[in-house]
Amino acid sequence: MIKENVQKILAELPEGVKLVAAAKTRTAAEVKQAIEAGVKIIGENYVQEAEQIVKELGKSAKFHFIGHLQKNKVKKAVEIFDLIETVDSYKLAREIDRRCEQIGKVMPIFIEINSGQEGQKFGVLPQEVENLVKQISMLKNIKIMGLMTMGPLTNFRPCFKTTKKLFDKINVPGIEMKYLSMGMSGSYKIAIEEGANLVRLGTKLFGRREYD
Ligand SMILES: *Cc1c(COP(=O)(O)O)cnc(C)c1O
Repeated sequence: MIKENVQKILAELPEGVKLVAAAKTRTAAEVKQAIEAGVKIIGENYVQEAEQIVKELGKSAKFHFIGHLQKNKVKKAVEIFDLIETVDSYKLAREIDRRCEQIGKVMPIFIEINSGQEGQKFGVLPQEVENLVKQISMLKNIKIMGLMTMGPLTNFRPCFKTTKKLFDKINVPGIEMKYLSMGMSGSYKIAIEEGANLVRLGTKLFGRREYD
């Protein structure tokens, strides 16, 4: 089933739109099937879960961190992940920078936008994004490459629009906004219409989760 789901989605996504397989709660065997079917990027919400998967599968795909990153998990996260999609504060960015410096790595990141402004716990508010990008752009071991948003569970189109506008508007020296990560199983079609070039799908690929 996973294989068919992945192939169907890959065939369906317009050119230029990349797929992240959101793999929270999935086993290494399930993730392996997705990779064998053509998934190139795995998204993980938990550092420990990702560590286990990488241990079992090796680095047979790129790994994106898509959960909420706690400061005490940054050290491990920068070792495992190829990109962190959910940076929403200078404090977190500085810790990523510090830990990357220690291991001689430059971490690509996205800034997470709180595009719904209410009911969402994480992400930086739209009006504060440009300033945050400016601050983070000074850190040597971080490379900002795009924006990410979760958006609300319903009525997400306006939030995707807001995020796309920011994506187009941000103009900070040395920063090239390349990726716009928006859309999940229930919203990816609309996200693509609104300009996403990276979609994060879990349920659509792996089936329903038993728990979150
Ligand atoms: C779980 C998750 C997804 C995928 O959600 P589905 O509805 O299962 O497609 C995407 N992004 C993030 C950040 C997630 O935590």
